[in-house]
Amino acid sequence: MSPAGPALWVDEAAITDNARRLKGSHDLLAVVKADGFGLGGRTVAEAAARAGARMLAVTTVAEARAVVGLGLPVLSWLNPWGTDHTDPRTREVHLAVSSTTQLAEVVAAAVQVRERRAVHLFVDTGMSRDGCPREEWPALCTDALAAESAGAVRVVGVMGHLGCPDPHDPEHARAVRRFDRAVALARHTGLRPDLVHLAATAAALDAPHARYDAVRVGAGLVGIDPTGRSRLTPTATLTAPVVQVRQLRAGDLVGYGHDTRVLRSTQVALVPLGYADGLPRAASGRAQVWVAGRRRPVLGLVSMDQVVVELGRDPVPVGTEVTVFGPGTHGEPTVAEWARWSGTIEHEILTGVGARVPRCSRADRTSGTTDRLPGRVA
Ligand SMILES: *Cc1c(COP(=O)(O)O)cnc(C)c1O
Repeated sequence: MSPAGPALWVDEAAITDNARRLKGSHDLLAVVKADGFGLGGRTVAEAAARAGARMLAVTTVAEARAVVGLGLPVLSWLNPWGTDHTDPRTREVHLAVSSTTQLAEVVAAAVQVRERRAVHLFVDTGMSRDGCPREEWPALCTDALAAESAGAVRVVGVMGHLGCPDPHDPEHARAVRRFDRAVALARHTGLRPDLVHLAATAAALDAPHARYDAVRVGAGLVGIDPTGRSRLTPTATLTAPVVQVRQLRAGDLVGYGHDTRVLRSTQVALVPLGYADGLPRAASGRAQVWVAGRRRPVLGLVSMDQVVVELGRDPVPVGTEVTVFGPGTHGEPTVAEWARWSGTIEHEILTGVGARVPRCSRADRTSGTTDRLPGRVA
């Protein structure tokens, strides 16, 4: 079923293809946080599962609830103090633990429900972000071993995250060395993790030595190559129908404020997508969309719910499908271009697509008729 209005079309086969490429001969932890980078957590999880993913990963246990029950374990790594770890809906979720106090909280919950909790010890390799500070790591390992001996936890993994995935950056080498030392210390303490994981998308692509037992990738699944080298397949297409076409006269204003005035008579189309739907206002003045086989500029400021697109002397019927971004194969703008126009990265464009835009399967878009391809009249 195609919606009458805007839609984010998700290419599940491309996600599976990306997952397979990133996985290689390793295990794959498919990161489906932020609702699968905006494409739909379950959709991305299922597509990654078809490529043989071993585990899913999200930020909080609240996020995990959307993807438990797919037959894969789920790892969650950034849970606020006070999270209810006894909740039966998420009791199977593996927890990354970044401090001794957090471990104590997890142990208390495990003792309360009399179940051994699967944990991954998370070490900070130099980002000063999540993960256990290096000074606290020996204590975390010791406490984890004690908790394991007491039957409260099972240390299944040791993980880190890289701030500099570029293998030629000296900070990268330093972080990998820190991680190696942390893993060695965990083993020396007596822990026997069978899943050591460090690399996210960029390192999975460029730093084979950082792959360890498993790669933990998110952006790459949805087609983002963080190095900008576009080695993965784009997976999302954002479309909306033209809802109105009108003739402007020279001197007419467009949108909010009085900065945008057309200099000559022209036709414009109204497209019902705005910054609440993920078109950054910062892209105003630069952004383009694809309409009827051609790129057309967005005129004036992006509004919350709509943009005006200049058609010039080349009008289209109301209902014509506008492609905001897509794989780029027909000439339509890409997510990478929107990121450039907005001064941001592709991740922010994809995760920013608003909740009111329905996520649809690309399979439904191409099956049946060809008249919903980018630029054709719907
Ligand atoms: C987001 C995140 C990932 C996934 O990173 P990508 O670059 O999207 O593959 C992996 N690990 C942690 C800790 C993260 O926060």
